[in-house]
Amino acid sequence: MTAFVFNEVNFDNHEQVVFASEAKSGLKAIIAVHNTNLGPAMGGCRMWNYATEAEAVRDVLRLSRGMTYKNAVAGLPIGGGKSVIIGNPKTDKTPALFEALGEALGRLGGRYITAEDVGTSPADMANVAGKTKYVAGLGDRGDPSPFTALGCFVGAQAAVKHHFKRDSFDGLTVALQGLGHVGYDYARRLHEAGAKLVVADIDQNSLKRAQEEFGATVVDVNAIYDVEADIYAPCALGATLNPDTMNRLKVKIVAGGANNQLATPEIGEVCRQKGILYAPDFVINAGGIIKVCYEYMNTPEDGMDAHVRRIGETLAEVFARADAEGVPTSVIADRLAEERFKK
Ligand code: NAD
Repeated sequence: MTAFVFNEVNFDNHEQVVFASEAKSGLKAIIAVHNTNLGPAMGGCRMWNYATEAEAVRDVLRLSRGMTYKNAVAGLPIGGGKSVIIGNPKTDKTPALFEALGEALGRLGGRYITAEDVGTSPADMANVAGKTKYVAGLGDRGDPSPFTALGCFVGAQAAVKHHFKRDSFDGLTVALQGLGHVGYDYARRLHEAGAKLVVADIDQNSLKRAQEEFGATVVDVNAIYDVEADIYAPCALGATLNPDTMNRLKVKIVAGGANNQLATPEIGEVCRQKGILYAPDFVINAGGIIKVCYEYMNTPEDGMDAHVRRIGETLAEVFARADAEGVPTSVIADRLAEERFKK
């Protein structure tokens, strides 16, 4: 490889980056193990039709590093890693491809544990599991999304307490983007807690259900950023906090489940300056990985609910430190992770 890998901003001292291939199945995968100080690296396997190998390398390094931070802040005994398969998930999938990935994971001897991600499914992971035990989230014990939604809800509670100095959602309005696996369940919890919902989605059925079940007001997908609300809850797309939306949002809190909400790290400071309390994405949306980790490690699940609810306490700490130090919440969340995983 050329020197661009070591120079990549997200290389950030990755312990190991493995290029795995297998001729018969056509597997071309990159497995990145960022950090295992807290335990074996865990993170999903993404399948994507990357335009170039360099793009795939950049993506896997970025995602793998992100998992170290997310897993550390969630208080899990695991490190951060990720894998990508270069290929079109719609046309290039075969059982043999995922079996070959399983064999490659076996050669890593448990330093990296995979799971489903964008472009891969529980069925694909079942094929991986045919060749290795280093695969989590097989879906046999249920969907992790409700736990992500629970984490978002307790995270929003912590944000409301910090910003509005109150415990209840009564009378607060939440502008929620994306009524999918996470967003719908989160919306239900908010509704039950007394919040008014304004929602946007491209799926008409979900919108209709939310209108009927929660009395939600529906707005156009592009209008969600202009809603007069207390909380913006991004639960669909990444990078929805960007220079355009920062000029439009009229909310006091951002608390949602989407990954990579900040278009660039500097947006964290823009939030701070505008008086918007941002619940860092990788802290608030860790409920799903907590569930997957408990399942993989066979940890008795009676403590899992309480573990997910600790996301609220962690965010309360992030908010308090950010105020005390006059820095963005996103910066404090990174520091909190580093305090835990760096030796
Ligand atoms: P999903 O695919 O079930 O839901 C996404 C929803 O967003 C769908 O209803 C879709 O129609 C809608 N949507 C798509 N484009 C939209 C647009 N332009 N405007 C409004 N809505 C739009 O996905 P999910 O599992 O609910 O995940 C949602 C987000 O949370 C993703 O960013 C995901 O990476 C992140 N996340 C999910 C989990 C989990 O446990 N599922 C865990 C951590 C992070």
